[in-house]
Amino acid sequence: MLTQRPRGTVDILPGEVRVWHRFEHLVRQLFSRYGYEEIRTPMFEHTELFARGVGETTDIVEKEMYTFQDRGGRSITLRPEGTAGVVRAYVENKLYGEPGVAKLYYVGPMFRYEKPQHGRQRQFHQVGVEALGSDDPALDAEVIALSWRLLEALDVQDITIELNSVGCSECRPVYREQLIAALRPVADRLCKDCQQRLGRNPLRVLDCKQASCRAVLDEVRPPLLPDAWCDACRTHHDEVRSHLRALGLSWQDNPRLVRGLDYYTRTTWEITHPQHSTVIGGGRYNRLVAEVGGPETPGIGFAGGVERIFAAMGDQSEMPLRDGVFVAIADSAAALIATRLLEQLRGAGLRADRDYQGRSLKSQLRQADRWGARFAAILGEAELAQEAVTVRDLTEGTQTLVPLDQAAEIMRERMTRE
Ligand SMILES: [Zn+2]
Ligand SMILES: [Zn+2]
Repeated sequence: MLTQRPRGTVDILPGEVRVWHRFEHLVRQLFSRYGYEEIRTPMFEHTELFARGVGETTDIVEKEMYTFQDRGGRSITLRPEGTAGVVRAYVENKLYGEPGVAKLYYVGPMFRYEKPQHGRQRQFHQVGVEALGSDDPALDAEVIALSWRLLEALDVQDITIELNSVGCSECRPVYREQLIAALRPVADRLCKDCQQRLGRNPLRVLDCKQASCRAVLDEVRPPLLPDAWCDACRTHHDEVRSHLRALGLSWQDNPRLVRGLDYYTRTTWEITHPQHSTVIGGGRYNRLVAEVGGPETPGIGFAGGVERIFAAMGDQSEMPLRDGVFVAIADSAAALIATRLLEQLRGAGLRADRDYQGRSLKSQLRQADRWGARFAAILGEAELAQEAVTVRDLTEGTQTLVPLDQAAEIMRERMTRE
């Protein structure tokens, strides 16, 4: 037990952390271009927040939360998703009092008690944005575009935007009754979960993954959400589509897309991948801020599982970004020169390290490779005689002899040029 981590958790080791850094760097750059700023909310909140803000009838709240009593007798829950905490912080800190739309993003760990499998852990990570304070369809399109641009920047292939609207408090209750009426006669053929959903959250039956339920839906062909949209919802959705076209994006309409969370109104979308199902999911939530006790404020956001995004990136997520210089000492007479060179490299702003265990040149070069060095700077007898250093480019496999007093500058230039 002592040397075994809890089920559903992973250690992210130093080589892998570099991939995470690269990802987070890209996220911060891209999101800030769209005017989003990072918000950091607590890892745990009062359980009530998630019950209200995620929805009592969702799988997350019913089955998956890490909930416990703290020593003061309060019910506390490790955050299972990011939106509820961001909305709570928005209300508590009165961010609605500031001018303009609040554009917020987060990256961090979330916790759900699920069956661990490849790409799904009990402690996992999400990246997400929330834009609060506007009902403008142009904002829907911008947030959808941002979710797409994120995956595009990461070079994720074979993805599709699936788009729908789940209606509003005017038209959804009407649709809900139509759906119940259509499904009640065949309720006994639905899966156990869906039989329960039919009474409490019937829209969720539409996106059930069980083959039996899909077969029933194909046969019964219940009315679909778009048939029930009110005029205002239809107009909103048409405008979202126009703005998406103006952004040069294409999508697939999916009239059965409802998303698992209760709080969505109107626009919902998912970016799906054939092997990794939903990579990013999002939607508009015009009632959520009021639901957690704030003033009526429309909002829209998305979240993506970082591990799932990495899985969808395939091999390239494992490709470490090479940078820095590993100084390899091939002659013990070079010890002092190595010390000086290291200091120059670090002073020039480069990541630099060396071997301290007297290893052979061959194993030092192996170490440089594992360490993710871009260059190995080799100091041997021949180099000493010429006051030079051999710079081996570990990405390109080339090597050149350069004067020692210019070496740091030359390597720095070659790295910043790229
Ligand atoms: Zn409506
Ligand atoms: Zn089902």
